[in-house]
Amino acid sequence: MRYPDLRKRVTAVARKAYDRGLVAATSGNYSQFDREAGLMVITPSGLDYGLMAPEDLVVLDLAGHVVEGDLPPSSEWRLHAHLYKMRRDIGGVAHTHSPYATAFATLDRPIPNLLIELQMFCGGAVNVAPFALPGSEELGEGAARTIGDRKAVLLSHHGAVAVGESVEDALKVAFWVEDAARIAHLALTIGQPRELEEVSKDLPAEY
Ligand code: 13P
Ligand code: ZN
Repeated sequence: MRYPDLRKRVTAVARKAYDRGLVAATSGNYSQFDREAGLMVITPSGLDYGLMAPEDLVVLDLAGHVVEGDLPPSSEWRLHAHLYKMRRDIGGVAHTHSPYATAFATLDRPIPNLLIELQMFCGGAVNVAPFALPGSEELGEGAARTIGDRKAVLLSHHGAVAVGESVEDALKVAFWVEDAARIAHLALTIGQPRELEEVSKDLPAEY
């Protein structure tokens, strides 16, 4: 079986996201890309995270041809593929429905750039890609267009997508994004916070 280590890593990330409440039931999907081979290792579609084992993951190319795997790949493989095609620095993708970030997505409202961690680890505010059906080509195109050079993007009325050099990095970004959304929500309930761009002209570059 190909990619025994990558399979374990992606499975561990999926389980951690589930255990930490970034997704409900079987929502979300995670992948790691082997850029040299042009293949991604992605979670299967709709499988209980409590039951998911490394052997259940699916290996496929960016055109969707399955190279290895008995289960259907995540229905969002196109979303992952668009991101890998668009940016060479992306080696891992984590798509979650984390509640605070997704609440902003249901309002078509970016997560504002209020926290220094969001600036350093994600590149600033998390913008919202236009609504498109889950699994569609349009969803992937919109997300890839909207993310620009940042580390995260929201999917309108759906969820969040985080990227990194590896799937573990992408998960870290997913946690930063959820934390920033939760704190923005709290701040917005008690006042009118100013975005970092207004507070400082000397923002640190992305970490
Ligand atoms: P999959 O189970 O097919 O990965 O789909 C989950 C999801 O979040 C769809 O957007
Ligand atoms: Zn989703």
